[in-house]
Amino acid sequence: MWHRLLCIFIIFFTLAGEAIAVEPPIRIGVLSHRGSEATLKMWSPTADYLTQAVHGRQFEIVPLDFDEVNPSVESGAVDFVLVNPGIYVNLEVRYRVSRIATLNNLVGEVASNVFGGVIFTRKDRDDLASLENLKGRRFLAVDETSLGGFQMAWRQLQDVGLSPYEDVKLSFAGIHDDVVMAVLNGDVDAGTVRTDILERMASSGTIDLTDFKIINPRFEPHFYFNLSTRLYPEWPFSKVQHTPNELAQRVAVALLNMPHDHVAAQAGNYAGWTVPLDYQPVHDIFKALALPPYEAIARFTLMDAIRKYWYWLLGGLVFILFMAFMTTWVVRLNRELKRAQLHLEQRHELILNSVADGIYGVDLQGNSTFVNRAMEQITGWKAEDLIGKNQHDILHHTHADGTPHPRHECPVYATYRDNVPRFVDDDVFWKRDGNCFPVEYTSTPLRDEHEGVVGSVVVFRDISERKQAEEEARQHQMDLAHVARLSTMGEMASGIAHEINQPLTAIATNAHACIRMLEAGGAQNERIADVVEKIGSQAERAGEIIRQLRQFVRKEQPQLSAVNLNELIDEVVTLLKPEARRADVRIELDLEQEISTVLAQHIQIDQVILNLARNAIEAMEDMTEGDRVLTITTRQGGKNAVIVTVADTGPGLSEEVREQVFNPFVTTKPSGMGLGLSISQGIIDAHKGRLYVDSNPGEGAVFRFMLPVTEEKADEQ
Ligand code: ADP
Repeated sequence: MWHRLLCIFIIFFTLAGEAIAVEPPIRIGVLSHRGSEATLKMWSPTADYLTQAVHGRQFEIVPLDFDEVNPSVESGAVDFVLVNPGIYVNLEVRYRVSRIATLNNLVGEVASNVFGGVIFTRKDRDDLASLENLKGRRFLAVDETSLGGFQMAWRQLQDVGLSPYEDVKLSFAGIHDDVVMAVLNGDVDAGTVRTDILERMASSGTIDLTDFKIINPRFEPHFYFNLSTRLYPEWPFSKVQHTPNELAQRVAVALLNMPHDHVAAQAGNYAGWTVPLDYQPVHDIFKALALPPYEAIARFTLMDAIRKYWYWLLGGLVFILFMAFMTTWVVRLNRELKRAQLHLEQRHELILNSVADGIYGVDLQGNSTFVNRAMEQITGWKAEDLIGKNQHDILHHTHADGTPHPRHECPVYATYRDNVPRFVDDDVFWKRDGNCFPVEYTSTPLRDEHEGVVGSVVVFRDISERKQAEEEARQHQMDLAHVARLSTMGEMASGIAHEINQPLTAIATNAHACIRMLEAGGAQNERIADVVEKIGSQAERAGEIIRQLRQFVRKEQPQLSAVNLNELIDEVVTLLKPEARRADVRIELDLEQEISTVLAQHIQIDQVILNLARNAIEAMEDMTEGDRVLTITTRQGGKNAVIVTVADTGPGLSEEVREQVFNPFVTTKPSGMGLGLSISQGIIDAHKGRLYVDSNPGEGAVFRFMLPVTEEKADEQ
């Protein structure tokens, strides 16, 4: 039995030993403010205690300087840390370190797990009764970073509205005892140290507590030292984040179980451990004093913000002012723009309404969008009758000859369809009263600001009066032409009479011969028939001349007809021949056989050719030498025109005459009227043709005119 128990023990310790050898030691980082050696001496017994108490794990102390604490915790180089409360709250915030026990500090015979600060002066300083009295006084503390030796007192001063940096003459002694001695010696007016310092110095006989007066004394239950500030928890023993909870729990239990007089506690000058206290008061003091880790949030007043971000604030202010200025400017600009727009619209309307021409707009649906006043006056339609309605159905539905005008042929709609402006001068618009009137209009594409077509604008005018004037002018021209023809005939009368006289004389002579042959009797029938035939042909010749004459002098019919210019020239030559013969002029015709017909008023074109030919004969009449030849030529001028040339071998036209030869009443002849060429040009223009001189001074005159061929002919060709 004993033998077996021994075996089990041996196996157990062997395994435990292997476990210790295999597992890495648990490292406890300890803030070392008195040097590594002192720290190891003080705390290694605690590590040994834990090695014994927590089976299977070995603990060791790692002394850490102030600067080493954060990196060691952050990198996980230690598993537990033992630091002062100030460092602890920073680790808690930054690295999520959590406390598992709080140190029970030992001062003499008294154990305490909380501590505070004491503010004191010499007993004889009656002028320093309260914290407020410290204003302007010399105040000595231990160190700027000392929680009990400065920061706790600072918070108390702050509570009564004093800043140690601004309201008192602050200095630091570095060591607690030096602060006490400086106050005692009267080097400063007051000082602060952590609690228990005064009592410790008194018990060692360095000072006498009765020489001092505590400022702002406070009394807390179960706290037996002089105290001027709130109480704060003692050093915590904490686990870093990576340390398993199970291990932390075992360590916590071991620490709490440590007897207050254990050798480890004695070595560390403490009285064991208590359950972890609440460290919120430490957080609170750092928040209140704006110390790390709360330096960024607390006490960040408006002034701080202004001081820190003044350039941003200034920039923002400038920006706001700039925006305010811009907004005002834009609002004013907007108002001015609106006013200008209104003004423009009024002017626009004024202009539209003061124009004598009718103006209206049409959208892409063919409906009227606006109309001006002139349009209302001309058509009789009111704006409300037209706007939004189909303009074609109202204004444009029927042609002048009564045939319907289909919508798809409407030039106004075609304008916005093909985006091409149009000028139309042979259309009619219908009035409200059912009558129509001739119009000429331009239809222009209406574009928006992106150059997209949104409709058409039509500017039109009633051309009734002009049409009437044109008609009157045409009539006048016709009358003039008629008079001119009669006068021409008057001039040609003797020649024509002579021309007719010849066949009449021949008829009379032949008739006498016939009578004689009949009286003589006999078988002369064949000869008689010959003579009668001659009589007939002479009568026909005379009849032809008279027929031409009658046709020429009659009042012309206004209608146009398809005319073959070759035939027409033949007829005119019949009338010209007597005059030409008398003037010793040879007429030569050079007529192209395959010319197109032209749409013309027969007699008017007769008159033009007769005028040109007679001018040529008259010009050559006075020549003493050279051939007198009048040449009339016809040519097809492309597919659209026929060209007639009347050329002579006369003296031609001087530069001066040539320039104004088509003006009325320009003549070089003693008995001339100077109307022939002017009337001729009027006639050719009315036929949409052109008459011009085509010779140079010093040459015989060449007059040329061209007439457009009839449309069917042009199409055929
Ligand atoms: P009129 O014959 O009554 O003078 P026209 O208008 O027919 O009037 O002619 C105007 C003028 O043009 C003529 O007086 C003449 O000087 C000139 N003229 C016309 N035709 C010819 C021509 N073939 N040769 C030279 N001069 C011409």
